[in-house]
Amino acid sequence: MGSMHTGLEESSNGFEKMAAFYAERAKGGVGLIVTGGIAPDFFGRLTPGSAKLTKNAEVNKHRLITKSVHDNGAKICMQILHAGRYAYHPFSLAPSAIKAPITPFTPWSIPSWYIETTINHFVRAATLAREAGYDGVEVMGSEGYLINQFLVSRTNKRTDKWGGNFENRMQFPLEIVKRIRKEVGRDFIIIYRLSMLDLVEDGQTWNEVETLAKEIESAGATLINTGIGWHEARIPTIAQMVPRGGFVWVTKRLMGVVKIPLITTNRINTPEFAEQVLMDGCADMISMARPFLADPEFMIKAAENRSDEINTCIACNQACLDHIFKRKIASCLVNPFACRETTMILKQAEVSKNIAVVGAGPAGLAAAVTAAKCGHRVTLFEASTEIGGQLNMAKIVSGKEEFNETLRYFRKQLELSGVKTVFDHLFDAEDCDSSFGKFDEVILSSGVKPKSIVIPGIDLPNVLNYAEVLKYNKPVGQKVAVIGAGGIGIDVSMFLLKGSQPEAIDHFAGKWKVDQKYRNRGGIDQSKSKEKEEPRREIYLLQRKKGKPGEALGKTTAWIHRQELKQFGVKYIDEISYEKITSEGLYIIRNGESRLLDVDNIIVCAGQVSENRLYDQLVSKGVKTHLIGGAKEAGELDAKRAIEDGTLIALAL
Ligand code: NAP
Ligand code: SF4
Repeated sequence: MGSMHTGLEESSNGFEKMAAFYAERAKGGVGLIVTGGIAPDFFGRLTPGSAKLTKNAEVNKHRLITKSVHDNGAKICMQILHAGRYAYHPFSLAPSAIKAPITPFTPWSIPSWYIETTINHFVRAATLAREAGYDGVEVMGSEGYLINQFLVSRTNKRTDKWGGNFENRMQFPLEIVKRIRKEVGRDFIIIYRLSMLDLVEDGQTWNEVETLAKEIESAGATLINTGIGWHEARIPTIAQMVPRGGFVWVTKRLMGVVKIPLITTNRINTPEFAEQVLMDGCADMISMARPFLADPEFMIKAAENRSDEINTCIACNQACLDHIFKRKIASCLVNPFACRETTMILKQAEVSKNIAVVGAGPAGLAAAVTAAKCGHRVTLFEASTEIGGQLNMAKIVSGKEEFNETLRYFRKQLELSGVKTVFDHLFDAEDCDSSFGKFDEVILSSGVKPKSIVIPGIDLPNVLNYAEVLKYNKPVGQKVAVIGAGGIGIDVSMFLLKGSQPEAIDHFAGKWKVDQKYRNRGGIDQSKSKEKEEPRREIYLLQRKKGKPGEALGKTTAWIHRQELKQFGVKYIDEISYEKITSEGLYIIRNGESRLLDVDNIIVCAGQVSENRLYDQLVSKGVKTHLIGGAKEAGELDAKRAIEDGTLIALAL
């Protein structure tokens, strides 16, 4: 299990919570866990409150973690992370005083004498980690943190023995690994996370990557883990639109160069895919991180041939990384129990109730399955013939196909937890006491419907809403205006441009200028003749307010969507009003001037309204009714809130 910052590190009773978090994963069969990054000193903290390990007094709380992991049969290494110029505070240090594009602070250039001290701090952290019971450490040498900053001239302009040629620049990590090995002895794991593909200009050459790997092996590392891309790189490396295993080719290039095992990572999320990566000779070991947030029992289920029961990470980042960027504790969109192991506990209800859940979208599915697992008798009613609700629209957008896994998971869980399903039936108040049973309580998760908007001509046949496009497959012309530039407006645009098929790795790499032949520093394709994406359609994406498209989307993915819109030549226009629609197209007004967008179709993606007509009927009949998900509140609804709502209501029944 790869390193992940969860935010528990800095929360109150954080170490107790982390102990419970890691214990669940150890119990679930993970072999080797790597903790989130722990700073070796004051300057290396990622944020002012970030955890560090610098003195004996801090050892005891780490013992809570190591004991809980060992008691459950796994091993655990502590990651030592010095943020360098990525530190989000004014005391950041770096080889040279060059500000990173992703932080507001210009770092201080580390004086030569303090480089020795910093190396000793890494060694001290490793020694303290051993005392705390860790089985090893991971030295964080990738993603653009301090060690990476030493390795390349982009960030290292030093003229002393730590700068200049690569031989000099790599001395910093080599000294760290050598001195840690000397201090901790032989039977202590040292993983070195090596940046194999920097994805930034003036990053390492492949030759330098190979040289560093060999030297790190000689310096005493036990394992080499793969790091892909600096955080400041503008190329997606783990988001949903990255094809599965999109970067395993990088680790494969290094296979055979060193004798110690190589670990590969990034967008590996099923046991079958992980096996394939190993069989293809891409690596000796697999590291996954987010998949263990999504399902702590991933390994046991895989080992017992129950992989269809795994709650698969869909790489959305919405509850994990996006939370961290907002300084919130991480969790998981598909598994709201993640990182709440001590507070959110699934236990048998004292009284088993007869529950009707109305609507089999993500909120209803989560409610039904959780309630059944708590011992309630659950009947799930769905007006259509399939589960999924809005997820059925999301899953057909290229890059969002992982939602199919969520649906597969829920289908299996409905079966395993004994939920009775009634499809193709529009539930009404009379059903509360009928041949379906006498229900004690109803959970109304009837979801949302597209919001209707008022523009002259809105009823013309050239106007469609997003559901007609994504769900009912209505034909759409070559030139399109999309009204609304939120998540759904972007999804519809992407569907019209990319279709439904997942992107192939080669195509993804070409589009994002990742050079699989590694001809240039950082592995970036610098050729001007990059094949231009031939857009399938001409699209106008429109919004009344001022701002970027997808402003409400998560920080880790919104920029990727915007970049893709640009790659496809989508014309985004904000600060407009809608004048009228005619058979010629859509008339908009911008800066007081009327303009015709001569499009074949206008697609309305202007948000949703709750579909909860049944609520008043149920309440007036005296039925105890819980409104959840989009049926309760349509604004800013997403699958994260829906699944969390459903889970929480079921636990509280
Ligand atoms: P949204 O994010 O609220 O966006 C609605 C868009 O429609 C806005 O651009 C809005 O801008 C416009 N609009 C609203 N009322 C309008 C009106 N009366 N006339 C014309 N335009 C109007 O809603 P959404 O795109 O439907 O998405 C719903 C939820 O799902 C959101 O919370 C979203 O974040 C989430 N979602 C997330 C993802 C993801 O990948 N994470 C994908 C899809 C959806 P103006 O009012 O300024 O014109
Ligand atoms: Fe994976 Fe999304 Fe859960 Fe993060 S929130 S672990 S990306 S499913």
